[in-house]
Amino acid sequence: MTIVIDSDFCACYNQFVILDKLNGNRFTGEEASMSFDAYGRDIHYLRISLTDKCNMRCVYCMTEDMVFQPNEDLMSTAEILRLVDIFARLGIDKIRLTGGEPTVHPDLIEIVRGIRAAGIDRISMTTNGLRLAELARPLKEAGLERVNVSVDTLDPDRFRRVTRGGKLDKVMTGIYAAETCGLTPLKINAVVARGFNEQDVIDLARLTLTHPWQVRFIEMMPFGDVAGFAQDAVVSQEEIMQRIAAELGPLTPLEDGRLDGEARLYRLHGALAAIGFISTVTNPFCASCSRVRLTADGRLRLCLLRDDEGDLLTPLRNGARDAELESMIRNLIWRKPWGHGLPDGVIPLERVMSQIGG
Ligand code: SAM
Repeated sequence: MTIVIDSDFCACYNQFVILDKLNGNRFTGEEASMSFDAYGRDIHYLRISLTDKCNMRCVYCMTEDMVFQPNEDLMSTAEILRLVDIFARLGIDKIRLTGGEPTVHPDLIEIVRGIRAAGIDRISMTTNGLRLAELARPLKEAGLERVNVSVDTLDPDRFRRVTRGGKLDKVMTGIYAAETCGLTPLKINAVVARGFNEQDVIDLARLTLTHPWQVRFIEMMPFGDVAGFAQDAVVSQEEIMQRIAAELGPLTPLEDGRLDGEARLYRLHGALAAIGFISTVTNPFCASCSRVRLTADGRLRLCLLRDDEGDLLTPLRNGARDAELESMIRNLIWRKPWGHGLPDGVIPLERVMSQIGG
């Protein structure tokens, strides 16, 4: 027997969930615009990959000879902003810009302004920091709230090796510029790959003793052509914690060990900022996931680690009205999978991280 669940049913069920969540007495028309998935998760956070192109080639992110998509296959600035308007109406109130490398997009400032104009003021960006020195101030003025900068090691030679050519001093200059311009609280993202930078977790953790920068260790995830590398070179949270504690003293859990967003936070004695662990593979946080992702080629990706996506760009280019796109997005969000399938051997092979955005 096949059960067909149509969009009217979804909308109706969503309202039940909303009513239930709001305890029946705080329901307003505005709250009805929220987007819930079939598990009752309130999806209000969108990550947008502005481009798949990047000015680095990190070993865990893409192959050295990565071929980027032609520009005409990617969303234009107008298309991005039209979708942002629709997402805002559906209850998205938080956006992270990512890539590829978002700072290589020629219209980055205009995009930030357009997101603000859509009524969304929680705007952040994940960047490799190479262009932050020149962009931090105009980005802040356009309405960007804060940045996460990816830095996997503080050793310039190893940095060059992990990123296949990146210049650490330029990134550090960018980080200080972002701090000066108020793109704060600033977070440092580090991916640890065996044989590349596992010894550097100590220096990275030490940063929290002298700077108010949260340092977050992101567990390596398998994607596409680099899936094999990511699985072979992964360094566990436990090992990273042991290395840090052996050198810098105990890590005290914060928030009683509960999740803060996607990270579990700890603090070194006397530190100015926390150390976070995002262990998507070994310690997933699917139950509290509130996000979906828009790829640079206009697909709505429902789970970072699953290849389920819905094409929004083709209907948009074929003249779909806002109401139609809204309904497509609602239906896609409705079928957001519960969680990733890595324990069952389901590995996302269609894309690498630079095409999804992290
Ligand atoms: N270019 C920007 C940057 O370097 O931050 C934004 C895009 S990058 C894909 C976003 C984040 O994903 C970065 O922090 C990067 O380290 C992380 N990342 C890339 N590939 C990964 C992988 N296989 N597993 C875990 N994190 C990964």
